[in-house]
Amino acid sequence: MTITRIIRSRRRSVALIVTREAELIVRAPWQVSEGFIQNLILEKRDWVERKIQETRERLQKIAPKQFVEGEEFLFLSQKYSLKIVDEAREISLDGPSLVFPRAFLTSPREHLKAWYRQEALKVIASRVEFFAQRDGFQYKSVRISSAQRRWGSCGSRGGLNFSWRLVMLPMSVIDYLVVHELHHLRHRNHSSRYWDAVRAAMPSFEREEKLLRFYESHVVI
Ligand SMILES: [Zn+2]
Repeated sequence: MTITRIIRSRRRSVALIVTREAELIVRAPWQVSEGFIQNLILEKRDWVERKIQETRERLQKIAPKQFVEGEEFLFLSQKYSLKIVDEAREISLDGPSLVFPRAFLTSPREHLKAWYRQEALKVIASRVEFFAQRDGFQYKSVRISSAQRRWGSCGSRGGLNFSWRLVMLPMSVIDYLVVHELHHLRHRNHSSRYWDAVRAAMPSFEREEKLLRFYESHVVI
């Protein structure tokens, strides 16, 4: 059984969490060893396997978007309802509506993804620049990826990658992911020093981490 992530903090007990993406996350105190965590997972194996199975089944039931009038789409955690417009030439936000050209209905998913990618780059690149300047980080580039199971990553040469799906989430969660990846430029791991630095830069990060898990089930298009 693979652990997706171990999150260390000043908590007192170990918690096993199966995320909405059916991944296993462990929350643990600083002093608990990886061996202890592995043993705990073995002990709780039945529970973990059942939970992952249930979550996978639930994920398969999430209906993909139909691209019908009034259907809701997220942008920076706000819901916009789809408005199909004959004369529109590009996708745009207008009040509570996501304006969508009727001509795009031949391949709606591709067009919407392209739009999300473009908007994601604008939003995320400017947040990266802001935090890099504020906290003194040197990065090489910001790229938008199509990763399904990864919100962000930090390449060994200083290139930062973020999933376009992030732009559906609240700005505070985007900021957390930006801070998370920027700090990997200094610490290429999730050591206690790494998390100390993240906490210093963003004291509320655990709340954002929770929100991120919550949103994981809402970003299927
Ligand atoms: Zn990380």
